[in-house]
Amino acid sequence: AKTVSRNQFQFYVASVDSEMRERKSMEKDLSNALNNNEFHIVFQPQIDYQSKAIIGAEVLLRWVHPTRGFVPPDIFIPIAENNGSIVDIGNWVLDEACRQAAIWQQQGHFIKLAINLSAVQLKDSAIEAYIKSTLEKHHIEPRYLEVEITETGVMENLSNAVETLNKIKQYGVSTAIDDFGTGYSSLSYLKKLPIDKVKIDKQFVHDLLIDEDDTSIVNAVIQLSKSLHLSVIAEGVETKEQEAYLVSRGCDMGQGYFYSRPVAAEEFLSYLLEYTRN
Ligand code: C2E
Ligand code: CA
Ligand code: CA
Ligand code: CA
Repeated sequence: AKTVSRNQFQFYVASVDSEMRERKSMEKDLSNALNNNEFHIVFQPQIDYQSKAIIGAEVLLRWVHPTRGFVPPDIFIPIAENNGSIVDIGNWVLDEACRQAAIWQQQGHFIKLAINLSAVQLKDSAIEAYIKSTLEKHHIEPRYLEVEITETGVMENLSNAVETLNKIKQYGVSTAIDDFGTGYSSLSYLKKLPIDKVKIDKQFVHDLLIDEDDTSIVNAVIQLSKSLHLSVIAEGVETKEQEAYLVSRGCDMGQGYFYSRPVAAEEFLSYLLEYTRN
């Protein structure tokens, strides 16, 4: 038994070691990704259930590395948050989103772009000034930008997050809480945080019509949002049955594969054109 556990231990050490090396190697690749133009952004439409129109889009970051290929954001974002490079990367996302918004606005399409703001970015006191200067640079009014934050992200330093979000909001940028319901003490955060919108996490929407617990959670979040005068959007809407249910419960907006996967700017424009044609 001794040798077995010893072998297991050695195996464990070896695998941790190779994981570590892989992480370091990805970290290094990530540090070159901005300069090498390996990032791009995609857009996923957000549908207003009253007008049935596309009123916005979530901006999502994509990294295609020359040899690794597509690396999912769930893999590289935590690494970028860990070493702080998410600040530069996030700034690039904002700049790129505003650049695209300006092009669409020149073509007559005014929609709100929602960008994901990492807790690491929110901690940076320069974030508010950066948002302002980037919007000004591209001549975009603040009401066409929304920032999505996660409650787990703001928990560490709540008073600081509240202060920064307040400034962002006062400037006219709207604020949304992402992945709502997945963290803990969600309810008290809703009261403390200066937010305009709640995003119901896709994990609750997925089995919305199958799992009674998920039905209850979604109902409760919609009701709560309404009574706090916050707008509410469901993410991960994949079927028309889910949409019908959400609409019947008074959910304001939806986003998900049922409408579209996140797509490149050119494809998104074709949706915008299709919508305005009729
Ligand atoms: P998130 O902010 O919760 O984004 C929603 C995720 O759900 C996206 O995954 C989107 O592609 C996916 N999704 C949308 N509709 C559906 C659907 O109907 N079904 C299913 N199963 N999934 C759907 P993605 O693009 O892989 O992004 C993963 C996460 O990476 C994001 O989760 C966000 O936390 C992070 N992320 C992405 N882009 C950025 C960014 O620019 N900055 C930061 N800080 N984080 C980002
Ligand atoms: Ca999001
Ligand atoms: Ca989410
Ligand atoms: Ca998420």
